[in-house]
Amino acid sequence: MAKYNPKSLHADEFINHQEILDTLEYAEQNKNNTELINSILEKARPIKTATGCRCNGLTHREASVLLASNDPQVTERIYEIAEEIKLAFYGNRIVIFAPLYLSNYCVNGCVYCPYHLKNKTIPRKKLTQEEVKAEVIALQDMGHKRLAIESGEDPLHNPIEYILECIDTIYSIKHKNGAIRRVNVNIAATTVENYKKLKDAGIGTYILFQETYHKESYLSLHPTGPKHDYDYHTEAMDRAMQGGIDDVGLGVLFGLELYKYEFAGLLMHAEHLEAVHGVGPHTISVPRVKRADDIDPDDFDGGIDDETFEKITACIRLAVPYTGMIISTRESQEVRSKLLRLGISQVSGGSRTSVGGYAEEERPHDTEQFDVSDQRTLDEVVAWLMENGHIPSFCTACYREGRTGDRFMSLCKSGQILNCCHPNALMTLSEYLVDYASPRTKELGFEMIEKELKRIPKEKVRAIAEKNIEDIKNSNRRDFRF
Ligand code: SAM
Repeated sequence: MAKYNPKSLHADEFINHQEILDTLEYAEQNKNNTELINSILEKARPIKTATGCRCNGLTHREASVLLASNDPQVTERIYEIAEEIKLAFYGNRIVIFAPLYLSNYCVNGCVYCPYHLKNKTIPRKKLTQEEVKAEVIALQDMGHKRLAIESGEDPLHNPIEYILECIDTIYSIKHKNGAIRRVNVNIAATTVENYKKLKDAGIGTYILFQETYHKESYLSLHPTGPKHDYDYHTEAMDRAMQGGIDDVGLGVLFGLELYKYEFAGLLMHAEHLEAVHGVGPHTISVPRVKRADDIDPDDFDGGIDDETFEKITACIRLAVPYTGMIISTRESQEVRSKLLRLGISQVSGGSRTSVGGYAEEERPHDTEQFDVSDQRTLDEVVAWLMENGHIPSFCTACYREGRTGDRFMSLCKSGQILNCCHPNALMTLSEYLVDYASPRTKELGFEMIEKELKRIPKEKVRAIAEKNIEDIKNSNRRDFRF
């Protein structure tokens, strides 16, 4: 039987089934252990240092104890600390992005996804480079600067060369003041060689959801196709890092399996990356299964209510304080509002999950991957964020300055975010407001920017940011960034 070893490169050792079962038992036994819970909460709190702030994070066992507790007072404290951590390391900025679906051709049999091979009712579509261009222009006209490209797995229709060609096309399009400055990639697990090619193409984060860490369930949820290989899928992030990709994004598709199992597995995966590569995941996404073409979320056993979902999100925030957390438009405005206070640092906005959806006037449903709950426009999402005290950020500077992997983590840990990310967020927000916002959003935005500029600690940085924002208002554009 495989033994738990976070440093191993074998899936069954770093995501060790027995260790997860032992963790769940330990959590169950200690869920009312007040002394232990208090010490875990204390450990999770941000600690002030001479240069900023530091956090210890939590082990998968410790975080699982918090998740198992049924005490509402403990939950309240978890939420308070989650918000404290979010503000300490990410400030009140929320990074904005949109998914771009390239192709829904897929040879896999994933039973929760309408793109599965046996679905004969869904129209299959793959964007031509002309269509990619039209999508990107539509996204740039909304104001987007950061995309996550999505594709089914199909070596014939969507080989790596096709994905690379699309990335090239996306980066090449300069339309009015628009430009996509960061392309994150969510494609199926692949080889070290292909990850190297993605790295050379200048991608941001490589994102791959594990879907479920429970091997037996994984095998039955992915009955056919290359994705059936649990080990190959689970070890993908190690290959991506071997291929030179610094930033990887993890995620579980909540609703498929029992959430406590997934939660422990997800944190063990993060611990593994840190142990082997010296840097944890850049982001963690928390998607839930949604209704889709031939998919009914109620067919799966692991459905979780909104309260449990909020608690999972907050507990992840405590466990991995330096990792960005993403919530997509799968969730409603109401759920997203709550999660934003519990540690989320990135949201999608104005999303369409169909292939070629952005270039259409009306939201098309025919090739959609799942129902989008939050169907507001990007302008509405931006205004809503600001009304709730969050700064919408279109910044991609870290990636372009080479602050990826552990260099990004050091920036985060050194508490220099207020002198770096904060002014960058304000400058990119100014660009958005001038170029794309409705009059109301623009007014709201510049009021916020005026207040937020005062929070930049270094006088020199503040003066440069103020000057740059004046230049943006006067259409005097440069590539502004700290
Ligand atoms: N084909 C790639 C792969 O296998 O990882 C890309 C993934 S797909 C385009 C993006 C993600 O959407 C999947 O990893 C899955 O977690 C999620 N997804 C699939 N069906 C879904 C559904 N019905 N509801 C919500 N999310 C879904």
